[in-house]
Amino acid sequence: MRIPVSEVTPETGRAEICGWVHEVRDLGGLVFYLVRDRSGIIQVTIPKKKVPQSVLENIRDVSRESVVRISGQVKAIDKAPGGREMIPETFELISRSTSPLPLDVVEKVPADLDTRLDSRFLDARRPRVTSVFSIRSTVMRTVHEFLFQRGFLHISTPKVVAAATEGGTELFPIAYFEKEAFLNQSPQLYKQMLMGAGFEKVFEIGPIFRAEEHNTTKHLNEATSIDVEVSFSDQNDVMDLLEELIVKLYGTVAGECQNALENLEIKDFEVPKSPFPRLAYREAIEIASAHLDEPIQYGDDIGTAAEKAIGEEMQQHYFIVDWPTEIKPYYAMPHDHDPTICKAFDLMHPRMELSSGSQRVHQHDLLVRQIASKGLNPDNFEFYLTPFLYGMPPHAGWGLGAERLVMTMLDLSNIREAILFPRDRHRLVP
Ligand code: ATP
Ligand code: MG
Repeated sequence: MRIPVSEVTPETGRAEICGWVHEVRDLGGLVFYLVRDRSGIIQVTIPKKKVPQSVLENIRDVSRESVVRISGQVKAIDKAPGGREMIPETFELISRSTSPLPLDVVEKVPADLDTRLDSRFLDARRPRVTSVFSIRSTVMRTVHEFLFQRGFLHISTPKVVAAATEGGTELFPIAYFEKEAFLNQSPQLYKQMLMGAGFEKVFEIGPIFRAEEHNTTKHLNEATSIDVEVSFSDQNDVMDLLEELIVKLYGTVAGECQNALENLEIKDFEVPKSPFPRLAYREAIEIASAHLDEPIQYGDDIGTAAEKAIGEEMQQHYFIVDWPTEIKPYYAMPHDHDPTICKAFDLMHPRMELSSGSQRVHQHDLLVRQIASKGLNPDNFEFYLTPFLYGMPPHAGWGLGAERLVMTMLDLSNIREAILFPRDRHRLVP
């Protein structure tokens, strides 16, 4: 029975392992193999005079990155990874790898990101890359657990839609029989309709599609959004939920992903401290303006340079609240005392925006007016607006970008490092 190499210890005695040949070193009388599986690396030592003839015959053709099955005795040895080595009794070449490799899995030869993404299946064999995705997996599992524990229903909404969520140019049109259709940019309208269905607390983790014009290090054309919507809640309730989730995710990674963090050479992994500061938009643009050559005018969006300037000042996760109503989407609820500002928020990492959310407008007439005031035609939103006529509870929610979350958590320089097969302006394959 095969066991993962991380479970092979000097006490194991005899074991069988399967994996990829990470490195081969032939010293004449002695051949060393490093064999890797998802869990780690083990040294296989072949003293040519002492192993069976069948082993010697089989090791002849083994190239790096071939898949092998090996069984033998495990011995303690100081110098090998994990303090143990295997002396093979059987050695089977299951699948030979072609040489030369398009990408060096051992990372001795550096490769640029494009080359790596072209050969992503090989790139993902690198322990460092495997570690990013094992942490991402832990993060996603924890999001599910966290929300299920709080009584959320998991939903799946359509990705092929007839209307834009927020109008605008960020849409990918698709051929859908004889109709005009788009890839959905956000589950926003659907999760709100489900508040009208009485679901009360929903979440979806799914793709969002944005026809972002430019290649940046923090935008993808297909990203993963963690979306939440909660009835009988306001913006402060869902900010608290988001903050608690972020702290929980970091804490879980700190507790469960020590090996992966080590592979990524992250030594001082810090769990963010609650509560996150909450800056009003007006304060945020003041901070940014103090650092930038061009001051930000009230009503301007907070762009990349401003985000960076505020982040340097804050040095931790924070919220920006009380945004001008005119620069947030029509579904954000205006404040009662001053309708020029609204109950919208952004969750910021010092490097960039992670999430946007708000208390939503739940009054049909106000929603129609706000849609029109954004220059959109309410007639195009009939399917969305109708539920607001038949008993819509007050509600609030947010969307959190999974790739930006992982990217900032692991201090990756490019968002493409946080997704297996990125879609960007130039990349549709693999
Ligand atoms: P930005 O202004 O940074 O482009 P946004 O405000 O347009 O982001 P939202 O519509 O608020 O994005 O989406 C909610 C969250 O989804 C964002 O905070 C981000 O984490 C994620 N997100 C949105 N667009 C993208 C994208 N193109 N690539 C990766 N993540 C994205
Ligand atoms: Mg946003």
